[in-house]
Amino acid sequence: NLNRLAEVQAARLKLPILAEEQVIMEAISENLVTVIVGATGSGKTTQIPQFLYETGYTSNGKMIGITEPRRVAAISMSQRVAHEMNLSSREVSYQIRFEGNSTSDTKIKFMTDGVLLKEIQLDPTLKKYSVIVIDEAHERSVFSDILIGILSRIIPRRQAKGKPLKLIIMSATLKVEDFTENVRLFKEPKPPVIKVDARMFDVTIHYNKRTAEDYLGEAYKKACKIHRQLPEGGILIFLTGQQEVNTLVRKLRATFPVHSSSKDEMRKEVSGFRKKKLEIKAKRKADKESPVKKIVLPEVKLENFSSALPDDAEGDFAEDVADLEDRGAVDHGDSDLDLDEEEYDIIAGKKRFGEQGEPEQPLWVLPLFSMLPPEKQQMVFRPPPEGTRLCVVATNVAETSLTIPSIKYVVDCGKVKEKVYDKVTGVSMFHVTWTSQASANQRAGRAGRTAPGHCYRLYSSAIFNDEFLKFSRAEIQRRPIDDLVLVMKAMNLPVVNFPFPTPPEYLQICHGIKRLLTLGALEELPDPAAGSLPKYKKIKTQKAKDLSRITSLGKAMAAFPLAPRYGKMLALSHQHSLLPYTVALVAALTVPEVLIETPLDLKENVNDVRKRWRTLRMSWAGTGNSRRLGDVMVLLRAVGAAEYEGGARDWCENNGLRHKGITEIRKLRRQLTNEINLIIPSCDLILDPHMAPPTDDQARLLRQIVLAGSVDHVARRVDDCELKTPEDKVKWRHAYRTQEMEEPVFMPTSSIGRIDMPQWVVYQDVYETHKMFMRNVTVIEPEWLAVFAPNLCTFS
Ligand code: ADP
Ligand code: MG
Repeated sequence: NLNRLAEVQAARLKLPILAEEQVIMEAISENLVTVIVGATGSGKTTQIPQFLYETGYTSNGKMIGITEPRRVAAISMSQRVAHEMNLSSREVSYQIRFEGNSTSDTKIKFMTDGVLLKEIQLDPTLKKYSVIVIDEAHERSVFSDILIGILSRIIPRRQAKGKPLKLIIMSATLKVEDFTENVRLFKEPKPPVIKVDARMFDVTIHYNKRTAEDYLGEAYKKACKIHRQLPEGGILIFLTGQQEVNTLVRKLRATFPVHSSSKDEMRKEVSGFRKKKLEIKAKRKADKESPVKKIVLPEVKLENFSSALPDDAEGDFAEDVADLEDRGAVDHGDSDLDLDEEEYDIIAGKKRFGEQGEPEQPLWVLPLFSMLPPEKQQMVFRPPPEGTRLCVVATNVAETSLTIPSIKYVVDCGKVKEKVYDKVTGVSMFHVTWTSQASANQRAGRAGRTAPGHCYRLYSSAIFNDEFLKFSRAEIQRRPIDDLVLVMKAMNLPVVNFPFPTPPEYLQICHGIKRLLTLGALEELPDPAAGSLPKYKKIKTQKAKDLSRITSLGKAMAAFPLAPRYGKMLALSHQHSLLPYTVALVAALTVPEVLIETPLDLKENVNDVRKRWRTLRMSWAGTGNSRRLGDVMVLLRAVGAAEYEGGARDWCENNGLRHKGITEIRKLRRQLTNEINLIIPSCDLILDPHMAPPTDDQARLLRQIVLAGSVDHVARRVDDCELKTPEDKVKWRHAYRTQEMEEPVFMPTSSIGRIDMPQWVVYQDVYETHKMFMRNVTVIEPEWLAVFAPNLCTFS
């Protein structure tokens, strides 16, 4: 009864999965759990929901739910499937963390795995669904892993009620034994594994002889070479993050611009470019005593990259270097290339001449990363303009979730950006490391979808063989799982004996429980075996026993889609009617690098600008008691000021604020406000862009709220009297002791707290440069500790 367009039908028939429709649907009808393995692009995500729909899985009024590990995929796949089925977004919808378009008519719902987890909290047997599809299960995201564990328990319950729920696990790699061979998860008979043979063409792998450190520069050179020398066919370049993607996109667009313009115009632009360059040089000279400090991202040498460019365009790229937007945020930010139009034009004007004075064949360069707005993502599926070659610069979203047609050349940097954690302290850092052999092979495979292709690996075969892991580790084994423990506790799930496809380390669970105990989200239960109140230590030795339960505060915290500490701040503010401030504060704290240290524009002397910003920040910090809110007050007032002034890019940059950060905070505030109104309908929270600064009383309450969310991040100043030698006094200047670390942490110069070095503070987190520094410090009163942090250990 579907009325598909002819061209859609023709494209579907070419997909390998169509040939397997009958086999797949029989397996699903005969089994409760089915695993489908098929190479990326074989049609799993777009076709399986349609097969299910046509077989009648929605005819009983129930829905088909599909989970994706990434928001990009949830949105774009719902649109694609709606288009293929010729249905509207009312029927084929999506739901991601804070937004969605599902309706009462929705039949097929794409969502992120976190969203389904939240739905299970409200509807423990998923009554609305007849079938759940876990897509991209090979990625082993924390939430898709735990969903599979929970579903393994829901399925028998639904079966017993005579209303079976089907589960389909889809994977792009053959490594599915964690799901099929794990009898704690799915009892015998084992779920069947259906393989879809994708028609793949040969991909020739070319390794670099040497592995250059500057992979961004290498990728640029390789792309230029391919475009200049090799026959037609799309290029797909894999990099590690949004910022790198934007940088390379700009450079490639500048090198092979698409707009053609007359030679006269080019000349004008060139002379304009030269003029600007001279101006920059003159400014540089003037600033010689205080050269612009370059910030180097971990392992990405942007300086090398700049020198790989023709001439010295370096001045124009200072902005890239200073733009640290995705250093702390994989999940945030929607950097927009339009913002750099001016810069782009200048360089484009210069390069339009080409080396031999001839314009080159244009390259249609498109970025692709998780936070790119959907309409821009869709661009990669459209054929490039006449006479141009398609070149997509992507993060690993292009590895499996999205298949771009007609890619013939893949350029793989071999790296991936991972957040690494110190297991004990939870101090986190973004780290660029080698990816796994499995994912490098996935990347290569993207070149062989429509014809034989080539993959250029920007590293040597020795590195591939010796340094790459065979498979990437499951996410659950790589990160703290406090949020997961809290959600599981809120759902009454056993954390220790839970049927995880891959269980987290026992120690990870212990640390998570410990931090949640400190935050007051959990409380200890008496141990019936011991007959007395157990100390936490005991839990550690008694393996497979978890003697904690969720508190009512913990339940409130779990309701927010945020890390537990921010959930706690919001949960407590409700009781103090401080919500608008806490919302702004939580939003500001979760967006990284809001305050910038180095001006982007070199119109003024750097030191003058810094001095001006410092004065401004001091004024934001306020006077008297309010000032004790510290860096958090500065952030709050900065956000307030930016909103009051309209938040334009120029204003932000002139006043030391990262414009994209401010935009993101605005979005987050709006989203959090909506979310809170959903959770607590009675509170009717409104978002007031012109929020007045908090009063002294409010600032005091806010400090207590910040403390409540940071009780594991309390620090005490190291007093002079504790230090014996003069060397000690130098070494321990501005030093604080924390509970979690043996090493001291320091009050950074940029912090407002540096002025009067208060005795007790809380910090948001610790970052490491040449020393360990506290970020976003707030002053607390020692007598509050007994109230807010009763579980705090004493400081030695
Ligand atoms: P799999 O999930 O097995 O990786 P998909 O179902 O995602 O495969 O993709 C099947 C085919 O549909 C691919 O060839 C892909 O290029 C095409 N496709 C997917 N999304 C779009 C889209 N938005 N526009 C055009 N083609 C698309
Ligand atoms: Mg897919």
